[in-house]
Amino acid sequence: MSRILHRSLRKDPLLAVSGQGLMVRGAEGPPVIDASGGAAVACIGHGDERVVRAITEQARQIAYAHTVFFTCEAAEELAELLVGESPGGLTHAYFVSSGSEAMEAALKLARQYFLEIGQPRRDRFIARRQSYHGNTLGALGLGGNMARREPYEPILAGCFSHVSPCFAYRFQGEGESDADYVARLAAELEAEFQRLGPDRVAAFVAEPIVGATTGCVTALPGYFPAMREVCDRHGALLILDEVMCGMGRSGTLHAWEQEGVTPDIQTIAKGLGGGYQPIGAILAQGRIVRALAEGSGAFKHGHTYQAHPVACAAALAVQRIIREDDLLANVRAMGGRLEAGLHERFGNHAHVGDIRGRGLFWALEFVEDRASRRSFDPARKVNEAVKDAAMAAGVMIYPMGGTIDGRVGDHVIIAPPYIAGPEDIDRIVERLGEAVDRALA
Ligand code: PMP
Repeated sequence: MSRILHRSLRKDPLLAVSGQGLMVRGAEGPPVIDASGGAAVACIGHGDERVVRAITEQARQIAYAHTVFFTCEAAEELAELLVGESPGGLTHAYFVSSGSEAMEAALKLARQYFLEIGQPRRDRFIARRQSYHGNTLGALGLGGNMARREPYEPILAGCFSHVSPCFAYRFQGEGESDADYVARLAAELEAEFQRLGPDRVAAFVAEPIVGATTGCVTALPGYFPAMREVCDRHGALLILDEVMCGMGRSGTLHAWEQEGVTPDIQTIAKGLGGGYQPIGAILAQGRIVRALAEGSGAFKHGHTYQAHPVACAAALAVQRIIREDDLLANVRAMGGRLEAGLHERFGNHAHVGDIRGRGLFWALEFVEDRASRRSFDPARKVNEAVKDAAMAAGVMIYPMGGTIDGRVGDHVIIAPPYIAGPEDIDRIVERLGEAVDRALA
């Protein structure tokens, strides 16, 4: 029996033994293809010696130095690499240890910014239903994943509210044009600003591509500019959560590059360190950092392990590899192959309602009935069944169930490392096909 709390509550904890490239080996059974990068994390694959070397060297030099006393070269170089050229006006990075911590920091930075510029009434955050922003109380309160929120609802803060996501497969009206759907969502956001009082809203928060809750849901063209316009009109910030979809997963380094907007604050995590070390970050616009510098002179926030030298050294190595090995071009090329492969294999499948995604970030949504888009009975735990069948077929995919109109829809995420080649992609699609047929037979 496992003495690790969460593993002890599950059947048959698998013991991971080693990882190399796309392959992960457990203590028993054949190796499996990591076709989801865990949870869209392992972006350069497993066991890259260049990262191992960077981690070892940093640990040997100095593993830990508190940021009250010191900065470290790895953190400085990583920040330079991420925001040295001010992409989209983002000029500063702040390193933490996870996506949730990044979201907490983003919320607090937005709040403090408005205090610094003399707008203390801005204490409300608007996010979207069917979203996930992390499991710590602030991030959980912000998110709209009902299943995850439910047990903790009484202890979540009251400063968060939710509007509809842009989710065409589930919520675009029949006969409603893309432009009309986007206009409807912009009007809903505007109405929420009016309900709260436009001068109360600190920020609107969204994932450019919704990850865990509903599975790789991309926004319609024009959606983010329309949301940005509402925020700008009322002087609120736009915070984009790229914890899952960022750092190259979508085919560009930042998913917002394909949306026609730039965020005021952005969060990143999974693809930043590629799983070699726990690390997340916020990237912020210069004017926000300037407001703090010219105001109280400090970010009233902090963690013992922020800008951890070993974590930053690992992330720096991962980010250099993405650039040096031109992996974003591979994400785009293999993303196209994955998209085509999924459509060919599942396009006519009786129980695959939607195939969606971008780059190397794709999901299948399972339905009992394609015509009516009726989801399976949650008791069947279809996403778990597909995950188990996929593991048995030698491929790891990420199972999730999102809350859709009070019901759980089943989907799985396919997010292979950026190093995947054509044969890997074909094998993933083939094995996933076997697994889906077996699980839903
Ligand atoms: N935001 C998004 C979009 C995520 O997908 C996640 C993790 N799935 C988080 C935040 C939280 O990140 P972490 O699990 O590292 O705390």
